[in-house]
Amino acid sequence: MYLVFLGAPGAGKGTQATRICEKYNIPHISTGDILRANIKEGTPLGVEAKKFIDKGLLVPDEVVIGLVKQRLGEKDCEKGFLLDGFPRTLEQAKALNEFAKISNAINICVDENLVVDRIAGRRMCKCGESYHVSWYDKDTCAKCGSKLYQRDDDKEETVKARLEVYKKQTAPLIEYYKQMGVLSDVDGAQEMNKVFEDIVRILDDNN
Ligand code: AMP
Repeated sequence: MYLVFLGAPGAGKGTQATRICEKYNIPHISTGDILRANIKEGTPLGVEAKKFIDKGLLVPDEVVIGLVKQRLGEKDCEKGFLLDGFPRTLEQAKALNEFAKISNAINICVDENLVVDRIAGRRMCKCGESYHVSWYDKDTCAKCGSKLYQRDDDKEETVKARLEVYKKQTAPLIEYYKQMGVLSDVDGAQEMNKVFEDIVRILDDNN
């Protein structure tokens, strides 16, 4: 299983990706998580990436392509992987095509209004779990007990920029993977477990 998850910010990619990777025992590769880890550690890459992330803009292609190429070369990716948040531009998709053969691109579809609401109420944990204030009212993680926080780029002004970036630069990838014959749409407005079941059905049918 060589998977790509597409969808607007807040579509539920991260939540579903975590569950799918647990089920199929494949590594979850989130470029956003890798970049945030670098920011936290204060690496040169993190310092550079932060300038773009804080504005809701994409980190330059050559930076993320290099990161992903290196990560996919590691042993645990041999039998499969799930890319969450990569590719985000046509350039990235074309580069990926040179070093990996994607078996499924799952496009999690949601309405823009729903996305804004989801992001505004999203709370994260450092262990990777994420929650929404509408169904989780505690401020500590149910899995590991750490304190939950809101991502800096989940604040309203940045969200608008991220959505614009998605529409201009990332949405065209839907057509790209459709042409490749590997795209499946999933209705991301459904209840979380239902979205998960739909993805599992697609993957079990195709792999
Ligand atoms: P995410 O956690 O996937 O929403 O990513 C958070 C931010 O990290 C994005 O808004 C971008 O600034 C940056 N980022 C993550 N993945 C990529 C990518 N594939 N290409 C460029 N920038 C990225």
